[in-house]
Amino acid sequence: MASLTRSLAVLESPAKLAGTVVHGFGRGSAQLGFPTANLCINWAEKADALTAEERDVRTFVDSNRTGIYAAWAQVATGEDRGVYKVAMSVGWNPHFGDLERKTIEAWLLHDFGADFYDRRLKLVVVGFVRPELKFDSLDELIKEIQADGDFCRGALDDPSHARWPGDPFFAA
Ligand code: ADP
Ligand code: MG
Repeated sequence: MASLTRSLAVLESPAKLAGTVVHGFGRGSAQLGFPTANLCINWAEKADALTAEERDVRTFVDSNRTGIYAAWAQVATGEDRGVYKVAMSVGWNPHFGDLERKTIEAWLLHDFGADFYDRRLKLVVVGFVRPELKFDSLDELIKEIQADGDFCRGALDDPSHARWPGDPFFAA
């Protein structure tokens, strides 16, 4: 595959998302070495069946392109309520090719010592980094996810993104 370029395309208005951390296939950490907290998405067809929060998540996943995003996140009901940088993926996980629905998965660039399934996760998505791609091998996928993490870590250091950890959204 030709070399992949990353750049941060800042969203016109950052997306504030919240929801429960659900189980996926468990392969993020097992097969890839990167745990990704999967955000619950309510796929109900009728908009009035959704809470305001669920609607925001659906709007995000329905209206933004698949790929990698840079975000800030907090495990809002965890012991560690720090706000950490995130490499977030939105899409189909084409390497595995077995999803019926898109997922939103947040790799928090922080070492939490324990799982946080069923906890409430809050995310502020600040920008798009690269489209979702199918790589030729698992090794290549792993290398690119690592590079996504490095890129997001660096990009979020820009002073223009520094206000988010102190935003009232994470204090509520
Ligand atoms: P699943 O397929 O169930 O999402 P993963 O292998 O992707 O499984 O692991 C994700 C889980 O790991 C998260 O739901 C969370 O409970 C835990 N976890 C621990 N540390 C992190 C982290 N730094 N970022 C994301 N999830 C983490
Ligand atoms: Mg996961």
